[in-house]
Amino acid sequence: MRNRSFLPTTRRRSRKDRERRAVALALSKKANRDLPCAVAGCARKRHDLYPYCYTHAQRYRRFGHPTMKLPAPAELRAVEEAVKAWLEQDLLTTNSDRKAFRLAWAEGQRKVHHHPSYALPFYRLEGVSGYTQQAKGWVILSHYLHRRGHSLSDAMLRHMAIRLWAEFKWTMPEGSRKRFTEERNRFVDTGAGRFVLANSCFTKATTEEKVIAWERPWYVSDNPDENLPRPITETITKTKRLDLWRSASLVRAIGGELRMAIQHAMGSDWLSDCRLLSKASEALGLPQGEDTSGLSRHFQKEH
Ligand SMILES: [Zn+2]
Repeated sequence: MRNRSFLPTTRRRSRKDRERRAVALALSKKANRDLPCAVAGCARKRHDLYPYCYTHAQRYRRFGHPTMKLPAPAELRAVEEAVKAWLEQDLLTTNSDRKAFRLAWAEGQRKVHHHPSYALPFYRLEGVSGYTQQAKGWVILSHYLHRRGHSLSDAMLRHMAIRLWAEFKWTMPEGSRKRFTEERNRFVDTGAGRFVLANSCFTKATTEEKVIAWERPWYVSDNPDENLPRPITETITKTKRLDLWRSASLVRAIGGELRMAIQHAMGSDWLSDCRLLSKASEALGLPQGEDTSGLSRHFQKEH
């Protein structure tokens, strides 16, 4: 079955190939650099290959959107409760429904890659590890499940809650070059992936000697070196997390795994259940009269 040796690694390129790609990349970066940021009202120049300036690119990479206010934890918890209530009250009313749902949900969970042997230590993912972003995502998922003992159901529920939140509040980012669905999935995957990364406690402890005071010798020696003050040090332990900018792709890979599992468990039309949508909009405190018309417009745009 799956084991550590099957963690996918990136393809090694020849030196010539690497050089050619570097030149092409530098050229496109140069062409992009002089254009203004795509966010309205932002006059700064673009960063790297993004259609945004450094600040907006950073937000886009870390949170999946350059300008939007992110879902508040309380909002997401309320939507999660709405999803649970929908399952309990509306969807799973008979015993056979419940049984079928449990089977489908478990089948979805089995699609997520999280073998215990994937739980590599922190240093294996630092620097050039050779693993693909997807492989790194599996490592984090393995820590989340096997090391911390968290449930995959919680992560899937969080993904569903963010997806529902996005149904009501997400807007297409300005200057995007992607399609609507792709961009929205990217946002939802980022949010859910960050939930797993935060709860995986994937950190390392570093220790360093910090000078806390200087000690002067109490006697005066003939040797000038012995008269210099000596440092008094203390060992400080710091917890280091994965850098949010650099881990953005692996965070999205985790979200992608969860999205696939949900699609397997729930199918793709669970979001068009009007009982769920009205419960979720109530949980978000949206006006009840208007939202149905807004939603149908939303759906027409998307499908
Ligand atoms: Zn900007």
